[in-house]
Amino acid sequence: MDNSNLDKENYETMVNLTPQILCITYEGGRIKYANAAFNNVFGYSSDEIKELNIFSIIHPDDKNSLDDAMLLAHKEQQDIMSLEFRYKCKSGNYKWISWNIKFECDKGLVYGAGSDISNKIALEQTLYASNEKLKAIIENVSEAMFIFDKDGNYTTFNRSARDIFPSTFHNFSKIGDSLKENNYYNISGDLIKLETMPGFRILKGEKISKYRVMKTNDSIAFYDINGIPIYDDKGNFIAGIQCWNNVTETVLHEEILQSQIDLQHNTIDTLDLPFIKLSYPDFNITDINQKALNIIKGLRPEMNSIDIVKGQNYGDIITEFDKTNVFYHFQMIKDKKETSYLEYKELIVFGETIFVNVLYQPILGLEGDIQQVIAIIIDITKETMDKLQLKKNLKMQEEFFLNISHELKTPLNVIFSTTQLFDLYIKNGSLIENQDKLEKYVHVITQNCYRQSKLVNNLLDLSKIESGFFKLHLSNENIVSVIENVVQSVSEYVENKGLKIIFDTDIEEKIIACDPINIERVMLNLISNAIKFTMQGGEIFVNILDKGATVDISVKDTGIGIAKNYLDVIFKRFKQVDKSLSRNAEGTGIGLCLVKSIVELHGGKINLESELGKGSKFTIEFPSRIVELPYDTNNNSSIRSEIQTINTEFSDIYS
Ligand code: ADP
Repeated sequence: MDNSNLDKENYETMVNLTPQILCITYEGGRIKYANAAFNNVFGYSSDEIKELNIFSIIHPDDKNSLDDAMLLAHKEQQDIMSLEFRYKCKSGNYKWISWNIKFECDKGLVYGAGSDISNKIALEQTLYASNEKLKAIIENVSEAMFIFDKDGNYTTFNRSARDIFPSTFHNFSKIGDSLKENNYYNISGDLIKLETMPGFRILKGEKISKYRVMKTNDSIAFYDINGIPIYDDKGNFIAGIQCWNNVTETVLHEEILQSQIDLQHNTIDTLDLPFIKLSYPDFNITDINQKALNIIKGLRPEMNSIDIVKGQNYGDIITEFDKTNVFYHFQMIKDKKETSYLEYKELIVFGETIFVNVLYQPILGLEGDIQQVIAIIIDITKETMDKLQLKKNLKMQEEFFLNISHELKTPLNVIFSTTQLFDLYIKNGSLIENQDKLEKYVHVITQNCYRQSKLVNNLLDLSKIESGFFKLHLSNENIVSVIENVVQSVSEYVENKGLKIIFDTDIEEKIIACDPINIERVMLNLISNAIKFTMQGGEIFVNILDKGATVDISVKDTGIGIAKNYLDVIFKRFKQVDKSLSRNAEGTGIGLCLVKSIVELHGGKINLESELGKGSKFTIEFPSRIVELPYDTNNNSSIRSEIQTINTEFSDIYS
């Protein structure tokens, strides 16, 4: 380009327009020329510049560098030098100027063209400061940080990272290097391979979140690893960051807690108690054992698997429990963090009534907070039934005493009033006159003495049986003739009652071990019942059947029969079907109980078949056995006469 047509004015205008600082100084520092940008940057007026020495405004720390540069220029005739110095402005602030300087030593002049780089320097300083801050933060965070570049070369390990590998981190230059000296396992316990280690996955662009690894070498440690790849705005990978969080203590706590829970679970499972684990505070079912599931299945058949039951709300599942009551117990757990009991609940499981107590046990965390609640169901059906039975027995006993006092008093009253009559007859001298009546009164007294005697005997024997003092006197007897004798001895009596008694046997002789006196009592008891509960014109059958191993003796009548629900209970003490039905007789309800006990003491069984209105059949099954040392029946001092026995046993039938 041809610049020859430019004049001085043109140059001056241009020089004053440029933002570049242009100046020419004498070697001593006085300013020969400065353009408008010089004035603008430093703030001095043209007149002040004329008086200004450039060396007087240079920063004291930069003076030496300027001196060195000038020396160099003198020595080596340097052409253009690039230098950066700070200058004091009119405002008192310093500004950084980057110069291109040419020394014309022979003319004693220095040419300078400079730019204000204060902002750039300030920015660099800020950047540097924040970079240092960042470095300090990275260095001091508790998480271990490993930063690597796009080639997988580590650029930063912070202090926590160095602490993980105190003696070996110097050897790590690339990701994966730590694998040479350490083994890592995932949560399933599998050895982690190089390519699945977080560093390699981050390098491929994957974000890693809470990847748990177990490092085994000097000691076992657990780390949760998080990591991200960092890209520039053009999408190029610039760095990978991995953070390792040491969770060894948490894992060990978790393991201890888990093992405690497992232990608890196993213990309860082995104990075979129904138990249900509930979440807290919403009381949803989180676990349940088979025993508890069986109860729930029995309540609602659709809940037939552990998976279906899990997640359900406890209050919705066990609706049989009064909800307000259950919530009261939950509230107690919340308030007191203590076991709470729900007592005596009736449930219908698979159609059967069961009684349960439920124990709600809160499980506390390390901080004492409730983490879950365990419901343990305790089956108290047996105890409850026993209690109910005991209540029933007490009621029966009460009835018995009422009954027995009546039974004891009636014969005594009769005897008393009859003896009073006797007394009267004696006093007024009419004894002989009333002789015909006396016979009747004596009979009444005797009859009532027998009744008393029967009652007292039965009561004594029953209490002997219960306390284990009742002894049979077993001898080897022909059971056929024992039974036949009893039937024969009562046949006249029975016929007088307007009934028929028929004896039948399929054998003539069968020798078995028995106590003939007590067998007689048993037979008289059964026959007296048959008489009591059979209307006139009825029949009584006494049969003997030899079955080989047993001999069956049955007493069957055509009487009023016994309702199904009474078949078992009448063998129990003091039990009578209905007093009003036995109005043509007296009784205490202990006869059959005694019969059953005597039969069982013989090693036999008694069985009853009956139909209401049609009659009853009692069958006794005696075992066919003999005794080696039979009791000598001649020794029996307590033997009563046959007629006395019958009179006693039949004493509660009205004559
Ligand atoms: P009790 O002294 O009342 O007769 P038991 O123990 O001999 O006492 O009998 C108990 C109850 O069983 C009787 O009260 C009666 O209700 C019923 N019972 C016994 N034998 C018969 C029978 N042959 N027919 C109908 N009911 C009977």
